[in-house]
Amino acid sequence: MKIAVLKERAADERRVAATPETVKKFIALGAQVSVEEGAGTGASIMDAAYREAGAELATTSKAVEGADIVLGIQAPDVMTLSGAKPGAWVAALFDPFAQKERVEAYANAGFEALSMEFMPRITRAQSMDVLSSQSNLAGYKAVLAAANEYGRAFPMMMTAAGTVQAARVFVMGVGVAGLQAIATAKRLGAQVSATDVRSATKEQIQSLGAKPIFVESVEGIEGEGSGGYATEMSEEYQKAQAELVSSHIAKQDIVITTALIPGRAAPRLISDAQIATMKPGSVIFDLAVAQGGNVEGSQADQVVEKHGVKIIGYANTPGHLAADASALFARNHYNFLSAFWDKEAGKPVLDEEIGDAVRLTKGGEIVNERLNG
Ligand code: NAD
Repeated sequence: MKIAVLKERAADERRVAATPETVKKFIALGAQVSVEEGAGTGASIMDAAYREAGAELATTSKAVEGADIVLGIQAPDVMTLSGAKPGAWVAALFDPFAQKERVEAYANAGFEALSMEFMPRITRAQSMDVLSSQSNLAGYKAVLAAANEYGRAFPMMMTAAGTVQAARVFVMGVGVAGLQAIATAKRLGAQVSATDVRSATKEQIQSLGAKPIFVESVEGIEGEGSGGYATEMSEEYQKAQAELVSSHIAKQDIVITTALIPGRAAPRLISDAQIATMKPGSVIFDLAVAQGGNVEGSQADQVVEKHGVKIIGYANTPGHLAADASALFARNHYNFLSAFWDKEAGKPVLDEEIGDAVRLTKGGEIVNERLNG
């Protein structure tokens, strides 16, 4: 059983899908691991560290040759995989709704594409969930990046020269990233408030010492859909939310937006007119910028200045913490494959609940019901 770990191809991708720690663990299960030379450089992992852990270091084609499983952060182009075993598994991020052609190419090539972002949100899969592990780091980094662009301090400071007021931070969307953003902003000494469409988050916001800001005027609203994800909200709700945001946002210094809806463009939470009500010098970090953006006018990897407000957002936020993001992503991969390791077969054998959820392609077909439904 051979596992290949490739160097990521995307220009801004510094993460790597295996670390020396997970290489050792895969070898302990009986696998042979081949790592492409230089794969870990962006995450400060040198080739020698992989070699010491027992991996073979190889060129792309040598690493892929005869591989049963290929691990990636972002799924590689199918051309890169020539030489892998027929029907080989590729576990990575596939961005399946947006990248349909890539999924088709995997089906045509006969590989089994295992989409890590389709990991079901069930208790036993928590340790395999890359969306959580990466979002947590992204929420932290978003606050630091916003603090960096902000021309004032976060904590209240009483100095001989006078008092510096604490920054007001508003977090929109309180999933994994939002919770970490709240915690990080609190640690930096800001006054924090937050909102979400799922009422279950109210308590979580309060437990972190932040103030919940919720639409109360629309009856019977519950934005929680399957798997704990948000649903798209009614027009009435969206209107009430826009009014609430407008009145609150004008008093904020920093806004962090994290709202996502699986399989759809990110919901628009802040319009240009609302930005215009904010104080000059305020900063908005749009964590959803790569999924279409929560904020009108936000652009990936650029500082957009509108009405004196800076709007920022990274195309790949976890990639800005490549070492930790890789360590956690690599453990997610290991936790996933090792949980299904069949000692007799000497390889993982997936069960239906998780296998059917993550498998996009098999036997030349697209087999995932979320894509075919
Ligand atoms: P996400 O990344 O899908 O979305 C981010 C947040 O934005 C969510 O809280 C969502 O409700 C919110 N949102 C969407 N539309 C909005 C709007 N119009 N206005 C304001 N907020 C909006 O969310 P996530 O981080 O994946 O977390 C979703 C839930 O799933 C959380 O409760 C999380 O704890 C849970 N979860 C469970 C598991 C598991 O059990 N294995 C794993 C990860 C997350």
